[in-house]
Amino acid sequence: MPAVMSDEGFLLALLNTTPVVDGVSTDELLDPIQARSWLVSVGGRGTDAELRQVRQVRAALQAVVRGERAPDVLAPFLHGAALHPAMADGEISWVLRVPPERELVTRAVLTWDALAKNSPGRLRPCANDECQLFLIDHSKAGTARWCSMAICGNRMKARRHYQKARGASRA
Ligand SMILES: [Zn+2]
Repeated sequence: MPAVMSDEGFLLALLNTTPVVDGVSTDELLDPIQARSWLVSVGGRGTDAELRQVRQVRAALQAVVRGERAPDVLAPFLHGAALHPAMADGEISWVLRVPPERELVTRAVLTWDALAKNSPGRLRPCANDECQLFLIDHSKAGTARWCSMAICGNRMKARRHYQKARGASRA
């Protein structure tokens, strides 16, 4: 059995399924076969209904995290979710129940909400404007800016260095 992905890991993986490859925006959930195996790999069922929902919630979450839409656009993805009390060993616990094909979208929205409340601003788009990836900043200072220091961090530094050098030679 594959290791269960953390909810934050799942949310970030979902947001990052539309990377820019060689300057072109791509979608890793476009091909149905590839998409189905991705859904199963993150704990989903891999059905068509689930894929439709997941692609919709991804677009909504990406827009919310980029600040283009208000979080209210996420409300429809919570339909059908309910907490049920369960008694075990003399203690009550609350169990989340959602229709099977909505488990992943509910998980994505609840994880987004937990991050927004517990770590405000830590989930954000990469500061490289040519990159469509997102990051969850776990640094103490909260100053992480790149999806990957090795890729976007160095690329942006190199670009700034180049622009500065060009500006200096012109002056
Ligand atoms: Zn990036």
